[in-house]
Formats: sequence, structure tokens, C-alpha cells
Amino acid sequence: MRSIQTARLSPYVAALNALKEDKRLRWLKPREGIDFASNDYLALGSAPRIKQAMVAGLEAGTPVGAGGSRLLRGNCEEHEQLESEAAQFFGAEAVLFFGGGYIANFAILSTLPQRGDLLVLDSLVHASIHEGARAGRAEYRIHAHNDPQSVEDTIRDWRTKGGAGRVWIVAESLYSMDGDFAPLEELVAIADRQDAFLIVDEAHATGAYGHQGRGLTAPYHRRENLIVVHTCGKALGAAGALVTAPGILRDFMVNRCRSFIFATAPSPLMAVAVREALLILQDEPERQQRLARLVAFAHRQINSLGLRTPSTSQIVPYIIGDNAHAMRLAAAMQARGFDIRGIRPPTVPAGTARLRISLTLNVGEADVRAMLDALSEVTRGSF
Ligand code: PMP
Repeated sequence: MRSIQTARLSPYVAALNALKEDKRLRWLKPREGIDFASNDYLALGSAPRIKQAMVAGLEAGTPVGAGGSRLLRGNCEEHEQLESEAAQFFGAEAVLFFGGGYIANFAILSTLPQRGDLLVLDSLVHASIHEGARAGRAEYRIHAHNDPQSVEDTIRDWRTKGGAGRVWIVAESLYSMDGDFAPLEELVAIADRQDAFLIVDEAHATGAYGHQGRGLTAPYHRRENLIVVHTCGKALGAAGALVTAPGILRDFMVNRCRSFIFATAPSPLMAVAVREALLILQDEPERQQRLARLVAFAHRQINSLGLRTPSTSQIVPYIIGDNAHAMRLAAAMQARGFDIRGIRPPTVPAGTARLRISLTLNVGEADVRAMLDALSEVTRGSF
């Protein structure tokens, strides 16, 4: 069918043409080929136990839709049960369940820091953190990636210039596009020394790292200055986000966070799925161990090929630079049956377009070997 093209739509046509010109036009592609692209790190996305828990929930009367805000009739037993079990699991004082990590980050960043406060963001934190910071009232500054000295310098500089409010340091524990880890121990120490709060987005670490998948912040749980976002749509195979925080901050969000107050509560059925995922983490620690073995295997192979990557984790970027070249390589891998996606600016900094290779339990060592053979072929061995 011919697409609708009227004068009213012409600014959008021009914008899309500009993106096309710049090799940055995006389009939706179907799921095809061997999974080297998803964040389904523990393969819980297809776990029979989660499906069964949802079917049993439905049969027992769990509603699909909450029917309203948590502050009205949308607050269901399933949300409360999940939050209390998650608080136990993560060793947190309190937990608040959101419909997703994006909305959770936006909610925290736009609600907790107040006018006169300073937000200190790592240059590679997720778009949702930037959006929340922009929507909030605090001033914010961006510091060099994974550089604790730069965090401390930024705070000192702000105080020297008269900054007197609270400071909020924001980091990811495992960065989504570079696959490198934050210097958490140092960030915790800086937060203590500077009397600051620390917000950690564990999106890509929850389930995959820490004792039974409690994340990389697990050693620091129950600190009054720590807020952690555990997303449920990646290693947990479901959807949503569990925010752990001191109870007072949870209560404040329930009262003041507009994206919590004025939104329909997440599906109670999804709360059932996430509860089951947390139980699987505890019952089946071998999933986490299998992932660690697969990651170690893949990195040994990658090193022996001479492929350079900043990563030591299950997220392996192969940085190409040029947008069009990255997309051509991704297409060549897809044509060989490997679902690898190209990632371009603005998702990553300009000039760092890349293949983002994701390692999950949806593949085994033989798949990794075959994928790397194909990658050598399409790049003619020159990494
Ligand atoms: N934080 C990070 C670091 C992410 O990578 C993502 C997902 N792209 C999110 C937050 C958003 O989480 P969700 O997909 O659950 O909205």
C-alpha cells in the first residue's frame, strides 16, 4: 500500500531522509537467527517455570490489568507480595516495583534530587537517567566514564563554587553498550566521604552477578545512601524494575513521583512472573555459573582472535566507528544466521558505531565458536 504523504507530514519525511543520509535510519526487524542480540542472559525468557507460574496465577484469579494506579484500586496483592519478597532477596529495607527500568530511572532521577542538589552522571549512563535528570530540579554534571577521580573533582568543584545541597552520584554497575564494570567500591567510598547518595542501575547485572544474582551492589545492601534499580526485562526474563531504597525514600516516591502516582500499576501477572524469576535465581544458581563459563570461554576465543573490546562481561562490543560499515557487518552476520545488531549514535557516542554481541544461555560454546568464525570471515580476519 502507498504510504500517506501529505504536507502536514513533510517535516517528518525530511527528518527521516536526514537520518537516512547520515546512515542512522532505524527500522524494526523481526527476531531471526541465533540469539546474540537479546538481554535474556539466563534464558529465563522461555523458562517453563515462569510460564507455569503465570498460568497458575491466571487460573487463581490474578487480573491481567491492574485497572488503576497503585494509589487507588490498582494496588494488588501480587505487587505487595513481590515487593516484600524482593526486599528479603536483595536485603533491602524497601522495594518499589515499576513497569520498566526506563520509567524507574526517570521516576527516581526526576523525583528524589531536589532544587539546589547536584547530580553527577557517568558519561555512559542510560538515556532514561539523562531524561530523568533533565526533568528534575537538580543541577547535573557529566564526568569521564568510570573515573572516580573525575567524580570527586566534579563534586569538589561544585562545592567550591557555592553548591550546598545534596549530591547524587549515578552509575550503572555493568555498562549496557561497553560491557565494562563500574568501580563500585570506589564509588561507595566517595559517596560516604562526600556525604552523597549513590544510585546504581543494575539493569545488565541483576541475575547475572552477585550471590544468586543479587547484583554487583549486593555487598553494599541496606545502606541509607544507596538506591538500586534492578530491571526485570533482561536476565530475569520478564518485565518491570525493582527499586531498592531506604523505606523513607520509597514512601517519598509513592507520594511525590508523578510517573508512579498517575500511571496504571504494572500488570499483576507480571509481578507473578518476576516473583517466580527471583525464586529460580535461588533454586537454580547453575544458570549463573553456566553463563560465567560461557563468558570466560567467549573471551578466551575473542582474545586469541585479536579482537579488541573494552568488555570482560557477557556484553561484547566490537567497535567499528563508521555507521554504515557497522550496519553492513551486522547484516552480513545476520545473513549467516547470527542475530547480531549494529548500534549507532546517539545510542553510543559519535564515531563508535559497533556490533553489540550479547552472550546468553540461549547459545552454547559451539554457537560462539561458529559466530566468531563467521565474524572472522566477514571482517576477513582483520579486527
Ligand atoms: N537501564 C539500562 C542500563 C538499560 O540498558 C535499559 C534497557 N535498555 C534500561 C535501563 C531500561 O530498562 P527497561 O528496558 O526495563 O525499561
